[in-house]
Amino acid sequence: MAINERRCEWSGCSDPAGPAEFVYGRAYCPQHYFSGVESALIEEIRELKEGQQPSTKFRNLFKRYLEGLLRSKTPPGLAMLTPSQIESRSILSHISEENIEFSIERHGSFVPETYYFQLSIKDREIDQVSCEPDYLTVAEFAKRSGLTERKVRMLIKRGEVEAIRACEVQDEWYYSMVAGGRRSVRIPWKLGHWDSFPRRGYLIPFGEIERYSKLDKLYEKDEKDR
Ligand SMILES: [Zn+2]
Repeated sequence: MAINERRCEWSGCSDPAGPAEFVYGRAYCPQHYFSGVESALIEEIRELKEGQQPSTKFRNLFKRYLEGLLRSKTPPGLAMLTPSQIESRSILSHISEENIEFSIERHGSFVPETYYFQLSIKDREIDQVSCEPDYLTVAEFAKRSGLTERKVRMLIKRGEVEAIRACEVQDEWYYSMVAGGRRSVRIPWKLGHWDSFPRRGYLIPFGEIERYSKLDKLYEKDEKDR
């Protein structure tokens, strides 16, 4: 039987299958293609064992599912990315038959940001849950941790909070842009674009907030024990 004579395999439908609507050997008409991808994806989720990495087939179906969802809505954190780019760059965290949670790091500015998403299979929707920078300035860290900026600087000097100079992150960003083929990247620090981030200023990895808050509690406990 020639491909163009195949019929849709969705239950109750006998329309001709579309030329490109194939999901792992099953043919679908254009109306049932998305549902076909969805049911194959759910089947893969059911077979996924706890702690197991999603298979290539899972990731392929995830990409095709995204493709369908992105036609109706694109959260800002996924703008300018193709479904293939999203699939290859995303880190999948929680996978269930109702939801897939994933995150993706973006490099629009020299401080990369990680966007968190929830894909609801039940609602057929992708929502942006949050967005966090990979690094915080001293002022941002102080605000989030409830410390004064002076105390944060002191902790950095004592080595109790990890920090690096902004210039290291800026340079890394610049060279990765050039290495990535963006020949039109101008040298931003020479143009004064980064005045709000002095090159000698500190940047603190985002994860330090959680680490420090745990450390802080340990110190409090120590003091009580004494
Ligand atoms: Zn059909």
